[in-house]
Amino acid sequence: MSAQRCSVACPGVFDDYEFAVCLTHDVDRVYKTYQSLYYAAAERRLYHLKTLLSGTEPYWQFAEIMALEDRLGVRSSFYFLNEKHLLTDKSPTTWLRPTDWIRYTGHYEIGDPAIVDAIRALDEGGWEVGLHGSYDSYADPERLAWEKQELEGVLGHQVTGGRQHFLNLDGPETWRHHRDVGLRYDASFGSSSTVGFDTPAPVAGTGAEQSATTVPERVGAGVFRPFDDDFLVFPLTVMEAPLVEEAGSVDAAWSKLRQLLADARRRQAVVTALWHPRLFNETEFPGYRRLYERLITEAKSLGAWVGPVEEAYHELVDHPGCTGA
Ligand SMILES: [Zn+2]
Repeated sequence: MSAQRCSVACPGVFDDYEFAVCLTHDVDRVYKTYQSLYYAAAERRLYHLKTLLSGTEPYWQFAEIMALEDRLGVRSSFYFLNEKHLLTDKSPTTWLRPTDWIRYTGHYEIGDPAIVDAIRALDEGGWEVGLHGSYDSYADPERLAWEKQELEGVLGHQVTGGRQHFLNLDGPETWRHHRDVGLRYDASFGSSSTVGFDTPAPVAGTGAEQSATTVPERVGAGVFRPFDDDFLVFPLTVMEAPLVEEAGSVDAAWSKLRQLLADARRRQAVVTALWHPRLFNETEFPGYRRLYERLITEAKSLGAWVGPVEEAYHELVDHPGCTGA
């Protein structure tokens, strides 16, 4: 059996829209310094929603993104991470590895009162709150289930899907875990170094054989069903930093983005875009916020449906016309 593709062209899906753009934010870091993390947990001042607007934390961009998207009349998906702790969850042999310092420190706590407030404010405002599976969770269903449960405890209802941190993926094995813990879509599939639709099928260790039969050889422009059911995979099409790096400048990135949108329209594609929240800080990351804004206005002017993955998921599976055939 080969994977079935879902398309904007399927009858009844996305109404009269030409194509679709899903907006996503992986919430990796919200505090620039580790000290801030301590203060945020200790200081009850941050408990109040109004402090979400304060400009004291350069990476804390929830209110800014919400205001920006609200002004543009769109919503998006925010994926929250519940990373392991280097000193309590990882073996001492890993403590001194620089990569592990980057991987397992500097994160936030899902129960941090300011994070809890942000999650609830997003949810109440119509944004999707989803799961950003921690570094090892792509191959650890128990850990993934626990993280999902913790996030849902904060959120007060179930999450629909999410994306793995670092796009870690072991082909259909990871999707099987996701489906088993009750997630209904995954947005991890893709490349963190290239932009566009033609993501090669993953060559994963243990999942390689199954990959060959359940993942299209070239994914093309579509969302697809790796199994014969309603579990969907939304391939990542464009991520901010690789886009700018590949293009060489923010201006060049914009013309590349325009081409991508025109291409998406022609192919009736579903674009999935990832902008990390901290890059909305214009002082620290000049140009990225503006690029995101232009992505949305251009997509809308080309006739795109723009919104969170969860809504796109329901568009695709709740219409009897879209059978994935
Ligand atoms: Zn991440």
